[in-house]
Amino acid sequence: MFDERDHIGGNCHTTRDGDTSVMVHHYGPHIFHTDDQQVWEFITQFAEFMPFTNRVKAVTPRGVFSLPINLMTINQFFGKNLRPNEALAFIQSVADQSIDEPENFEEQALKFVGHDLYEAFFKGYTLKQWGIDPKDLPASILKRLPIRFNYDDNYYNSTYQAIPREGYTAIIQRLIDNHRITLKLNHKFSYSEKDQFNHVFYTGPIDALYGFSEGELGYRTVYFEREVHADDYQGNAVINYTDAEVPFTRIAEHKHFTPWESHDKTVVFKEYSKFAEKDDIPYYPISQASDKAILSRYQALARQEQNISFVGRLATYRYLDMDKVIGEALRFSDRWIEAHKSGAPSPVFSSDD
Ligand code: UDP
Repeated sequence: MFDERDHIGGNCHTTRDGDTSVMVHHYGPHIFHTDDQQVWEFITQFAEFMPFTNRVKAVTPRGVFSLPINLMTINQFFGKNLRPNEALAFIQSVADQSIDEPENFEEQALKFVGHDLYEAFFKGYTLKQWGIDPKDLPASILKRLPIRFNYDDNYYNSTYQAIPREGYTAIIQRLIDNHRITLKLNHKFSYSEKDQFNHVFYTGPIDALYGFSEGELGYRTVYFEREVHADDYQGNAVINYTDAEVPFTRIAEHKHFTPWESHDKTVVFKEYSKFAEKDDIPYYPISQASDKAILSRYQALARQEQNISFVGRLATYRYLDMDKVIGEALRFSDRWIEAHKSGAPSPVFSSDD
């Protein structure tokens, strides 16, 4: 196993902060959530997971509200006292009914919650996060967020929601604790090394493996401003700043991800987003039409490989959550072993479809 960084765990890497001893998610908050029981059973073999519910708050120009949009958000935002069915009818009355099949993020939002909630919660944040007009982003990005007509303010709908007590890096350590696995850090795998191995499972960016010969795939990267404070900085793990005028997208206060621990001091990370240049860490695939054209050229190259498979978020260029990556990897390894046993060609991509 090669990793170009000086640590394992990729963007899930966690360490204890030197000043506060808070467990920090080095590359931004990772809250494990899944509906997939097989994934849950697999991952919980390697760590103790503590139940954690993400209750996000959003600072908007009109005040602080609960996210995802729920009955509290709707009633406070519109100064009303609606019950669930009334709120549903009200949102339907302000939503844009003329949109049948939303073709982009903005249309999805207008159809979903109407103009005012879209402007307050989604437009500015999305512009900052993606650097692209929401009209040019896929509707699927917004579908990640629920809207509820009750007072449930849980950010996710998933059956299992938790954070590993000792962080994510400890999980990866246990996963690779096997005498048949050799770890080499600070080593960026290069295409020319592939024939030293029977088979390569490549999880880095697909364009980088081919030296960007078919063009660069668009990614957003995020970067952080770290601050240490006394006591409690913001009273919550995640607070989003939805106004386009505020330069950062959100502030994460990591000690609130481990309410079972107690710490006198606190460490917070202000999160900024920008287009990823070649040397930046890729986080979010942008997946515009131009990216898709480039991707299909790399996929054509990949399909010609005899001994490389492309696994996970970067190698298949998709916006996947941790649980989806794990689920695909489990199914992919079954498929790969099956093919290997029968002498069939190795499956190339971890994607289920
Ligand atoms: N989003 C938004 N306002 C928010 C939170 C999210 O407009 O306060 C939009 C934004 O486009 C974001 C998407 O919803 O990229 C998905 O949000 P999620 O919290 O799932 O993103 P992640 O945690 O993966 O960055």
